[in-house]
Amino acid sequence: MFLIRGRRTKFKKAWQLNAPCPNCEQKNTLALSVFTSYAHLFWIPFFSMGRTGAVLCSHCGYTEEVKKTNEEIYGLYNTLKSEVKIPLTYYMGFPLLFIVFFHSIISSNDVRAEKSEYLEHPEVGDVYVFKPTGQAEFMGFRVVDVQEDTLFVHMNMYGSTSGYKMETADVDTSYIDFRIGYPKAELKEWHQQNGIYSIKRKNKE
Ligand SMILES: [Zn+2]
Repeated sequence: MFLIRGRRTKFKKAWQLNAPCPNCEQKNTLALSVFTSYAHLFWIPFFSMGRTGAVLCSHCGYTEEVKKTNEEIYGLYNTLKSEVKIPLTYYMGFPLLFIVFFHSIISSNDVRAEKSEYLEHPEVGDVYVFKPTGQAEFMGFRVVDVQEDTLFVHMNMYGSTSGYKMETADVDTSYIDFRIGYPKAELKEWHQQNGIYSIKRKNKE
């Protein structure tokens, strides 16, 4: 799977230091900048990767990461960086993942309940996509008549290895004008074995 992940760094705050520049030794020319960074997945922040600091000298142009400068600058950085708080949004990926996960469980339960409802109370015009046991391709039919124990259907002349594609093949010209009967009990059995990919009803109430 291709995942877009990485690290993002944001500028947070800057201070003027009176410590001498490690390069030109001028005073009051160093600016210390503090950055925060987070790991992201698909540009959604997942966790903080802490703070980093860098200095820039306005006199000689010296620029360096704080940890590669000297003890004096590093000490000042350690004091000042506590003023930069890690935003809570840097961890928002986890609750978001949690919500998406439970939402998908709930919605798949809804779809399953809807299928059961359609099987229990079939209507003319219902469109089924299913995969017979042991077959590689999905098939489809449209209900043309509902009798007590039997659904009469027109088969779709096409098949597809994709259930979704089979759903899109639901056009009048795809159906063979020949009635076939399916016992309702058999369809329910397929449903219990997860053999029915989808049941669509055009005129939902
Ligand atoms: Zn300098």
